[in-house]
Amino acid sequence: MAGKTNLNLPKYSVVAPVYNEIDCVQEFNKQVSAAMKTLHESWELVLVDDGSTDGSTNAIREIAKRDAHVRPVIFARNFGHQIAVTAGLDYARGDAVIIIDADLQDPPAVMLDLIEKWREGFEVVYAVRRKREGESWFKMFTASLFYRLIYRITDVKIPLDTGDFRLLDRKVVDVMGQMRERHRFLRGMAAWVGYNQVGVEYDRKERFAGKTKYPFGKMLKLALNAITSFSYFPLQLATYIGFISAGISILAIPIVAALRLSNQVALLGQATTLIAVLFLGGVQLITLGILGEYVGRIYDESKGRPLYIVSEAPDKNK
Ligand code: UDP
Ligand code: MG
Repeated sequence: MAGKTNLNLPKYSVVAPVYNEIDCVQEFNKQVSAAMKTLHESWELVLVDDGSTDGSTNAIREIAKRDAHVRPVIFARNFGHQIAVTAGLDYARGDAVIIIDADLQDPPAVMLDLIEKWREGFEVVYAVRRKREGESWFKMFTASLFYRLIYRITDVKIPLDTGDFRLLDRKVVDVMGQMRERHRFLRGMAAWVGYNQVGVEYDRKERFAGKTKYPFGKMLKLALNAITSFSYFPLQLATYIGFISAGISILAIPIVAALRLSNQVALLGQATTLIAVLFLGGVQLITLGILGEYVGRIYDESKGRPLYIVSEAPDKNK
């Protein structure tokens, strides 16, 4: 028994964040339409404009005018990829929601494979990168390292080599909608929710046009968010290092005393003292910095600001 407002809700929502993708959006819209049409079911495409400055905003408006499937959500400024996807999830109305990049690195045809698994009863279907084309070895190396590090030190088992390209069941989207943390790592959040999850392999393509909007600095930020959102390990590091250096010094005291008394080796004081002081000073500053990362995040959360500001968007429930 669908309620009055639910009558025309689409079955599938495709959510794509767009930041300065003027040369991609048209083609992206075309390829998504081509893939979704083969299903003969209702669908919508939520395009979130993340404060583009290259005319993508207007392009999205134009596309939405022509294509009734498109639901444009336009941000007041750039809020970042993870927040843009979050807004997309907030505005998506489908029973199954697919997150996909707008640069065609994630081929829209793969969405059909994700949907197939959803029909089999899985609530989260994530796309695993088998191959990555056209990316620098540096990006592949750091990404691979990042996924493995996260896997080791976090409490949530986040699947390896998996980006945000995935399908989420309505149940999962609703739970994630309640998780309003500011420094977001959506892959981790989706893994945290639970339910039945499964991976589908695919080959990640080259960008259709344009350059990556994820330079090293942003990747590092995302990595820090991932770690701090799902692990206390960096905070515990101070305790471990503290125990180790205390242990070493307790061992060293009798050794140094014995050497001095036997007059065999004269340990020259200044250099060793300096090294010890610099080492401990360095370790203390690093752990202070780590503490700062967490405190800064607590501060951000405590302000309770909205996650994003839209300048144009459809009514959430219609
Ligand atoms: N993106 C965004 N806001 C940003 C950066 C990126 O909405 O601040 C979008 C971008 O338009 C693309 C997706 O997020 O659709 C993935 O970004 P990108 O392709 O640059 O990342 P990469 O694939 O190189 O990791
Ligand atoms: Mg990309």
